[in-house]
Amino acid sequence: MLARMGEQLPLPLTTPLAGQPEPNVEPVAGARSRRRWLQDKLAELCGEPVSVVVNDNRSNLLSAQRRGGTLAFRLHHMFLDADERVLRAAARFANRPDRSSRTLVDQFIERHGHLITRPPRPASARPARGRNHDLQAVFDELNRDYFAGRIDAEIVFGEAGRPQRRRRRRRSIKLGSYDDTARRIVIHPALDQPQVPRSFVAYIVFHEMLHQLYRPQRAGVALRFHGRDFKKAERAFAGRREAQRWFSRNLDLLLSYREPEVMAGDRPRRAP
Ligand SMILES: [Zn+2]
Repeated sequence: MLARMGEQLPLPLTTPLAGQPEPNVEPVAGARSRRRWLQDKLAELCGEPVSVVVNDNRSNLLSAQRRGGTLAFRLHHMFLDADERVLRAAARFANRPDRSSRTLVDQFIERHGHLITRPPRPASARPARGRNHDLQAVFDELNRDYFAGRIDAEIVFGEAGRPQRRRRRRRSIKLGSYDDTARRIVIHPALDQPQVPRSFVAYIVFHEMLHQLYRPQRAGVALRFHGRDFKKAERAFAGRREAQRWFSRNLDLLLSYREPEVMAGDRPRRAP
């Protein structure tokens, strides 16, 4: 499951290249001969001499520039996996970009967006290990068991929030959130209580991990954070029913957590 990246990666395609030098990185096994094959294929499709540089440049995934009598391609290494149909579109795109070649290449890039290396994220000062639960361990297990290791995010416990004025108890709690820009999952410290089972923490973490794969969808003027695909994927979590049962019986434990936090964002009344 969860093989799709959806529409979360708007990636720039430019031609011709701005002209900065790029490192020539070929991280895929057998990449050298594959690059050779790619070069021959593109030459055949373009009907002219072609050179190919394969790189890891995330801001310029595909470009072509005429240099002397050669069409010089610079391609992200994901194109080593491209089939002939995509390469034909890439060749057309290099010569005379039209809508259909662009669409085909864009779709290919979307499908391979997970191969793009992102710059390192700024570190958070918040801890992943609480008194009772180690979020990193939970995250790593889930990433291995459900996502084939593809979720790239930091995970931390959130701030408990400033002490509130006299308020008997909160009516809602945001147990987790995911910030795609920072690629950071933040889990409410109320979940670090000893009475909270690890399986429930895992359920919340799993939910937030899904947000990296399933981006919000527009529904009229609103954004739908939990669309049909999201909910379907969420049902794959093995301990889901148990977690929901625990939640409905222990809501008070979470709501009465001592240092309340102002709530905002997705799904305030129900877990997660
Ligand atoms: Zn959510």
